Amino acid sequence: MLHIGLDDTDSVKGGCTTWLATEVIQELSEFDLVDYPRLVRLNPNVPWKTRGNGAVALTLGKGIGSKKLIGELDGKPFFIFEKSAEKKYDKEQILERVLDLIHKHSMPDSEPGVVISDSFLPEGLYWQGVSNIVTKDMLLESIEGTVSSGLRGSRGIFGAACSLAWSGSFSKVNGISHTWELIGYRNQDNWGTKRNIESSAVRKISNIETVFSCTDLDGKVAMVPNSPCPVLWGFRGTNKDKLIQNFDKLGPEIPSRWLLYKTNQATDDHLRSKEISKIKDGDSVNIEVSVTSKSTIIKGGHRFFEVQDKFNQTTNCAAFEPTKNFRHIVDKLEIGDLLIICGSVNNGTINLEKLRILSLVPRFLKPANPICVCGQRTHSSGKESYYRCKSCSKKYDRPEKVVASSGLELKWYEPPASSRRHLSTPISLMHY
Ligand SMILES: [Zn+2]
Repeated sequence: MLHIGLDDTDSVKGGCTTWLATEVIQELSEFDLVDYPRLVRLNPNVPWKTRGNGAVALTLGKGIGSKKLIGELDGKPFFIFEKSAEKKYDKEQILERVLDLIHKHSMPDSEPGVVISDSFLPEGLYWQGVSNIVTKDMLLESIEGTVSSGLRGSRGIFGAACSLAWSGSFSKVNGISHTWELIGYRNQDNWGTKRNIESSAVRKISNIETVFSCTDLDGKVAMVPNSPCPVLWGFRGTNKDKLIQNFDKLGPEIPSRWLLYKTNQATDDHLRSKEISKIKDGDSVNIEVSVTSKSTIIKGGHRFFEVQDKFNQTTNCAAFEPTKNFRHIVDKLEIGDLLIICGSVNNGTINLEKLRILSLVPRFLKPANPICVCGQRTHSSGKESYYRCKSCSKKYDRPEKVVASSGLELKWYEPPASSRRHLSTPISLMHY
């Protein structure tokens, strides 16, 4: 089979590697798609990542047997075939044709890479790339037998190779091996202009079961990007057929292309369980901790608090302003609450992606001081001691503590979809 990996063709100024993949599919039209196109997100913490750090892998061959519609590019339907046969190709020639497209369409400040392979690459390369850093040695060992090239430094070869190493068949973290995204692309004339998608239509499709990350809880649209890229919207879910059946409800702007991707988004593949003493900048972790300080607010509305793991090692956690109401959950935490925290480590602080409350210490309201028979309010004579009236010196027992509600439940909490990481599993999909 012909496997093509692509990465790092876009930048904050525009472009999109998935759109370039649709160009590649059109260019190589003598081939059929014999597996789902794969959109693979890699370590969100690498310092040189492009916007979403997403690479694309295509598997091409000669399709046989029954076929299924998975995309439409400028009026032409594209199918995936149930079975496939080998089709002869020359890797060098394919590379030249793909590089031509990259020359034409990649952003000038990107460092694109392409890898052409006859097979999937070893899965270990993917796990390294999603949760850690792939070294040059690891890369060279993994891409032996492939042909690869790139532009302007070709950093994208790393991501392109990692995407060819992701099969989407395994889960290390929470049982979710893959999800789906149906991406709609804009007519080229519209690139850079405001996208015309009714929020009422988005709300309607966001209620479909198995669909996720269309809107924030407050109704804000999360599936329509604001960048000048070719993407009109990204429709995500765990059931691919529901996406194909419902995307045409989005409008009035309609996509000139759409394509279904199998993806590692929402799998939590980037998270690793670690002791606090072993975490380092760039890690994404899930750790069981107890809260050791109340949250403090700094300028800009960011929240910080301290936690400790079972080895009594402490670290700081942060919930930044874009996490919106998630910060109010953090504000309600008390010292002694037990949590599972998920997030990435930056400057020695864990930036929270979500948290699960395992147990809550009791909360108490401070009861009102008793009123003396003489009508004066009494005063406490010290911690755990009685109350005393200052005018007639009568003593009173401390009133019973009043149990207060924490305002929290033993469950997962997360920031809104629009500030969520692509790799982070939304809590609607968490099984526990
Ligand atoms: Zn009194």
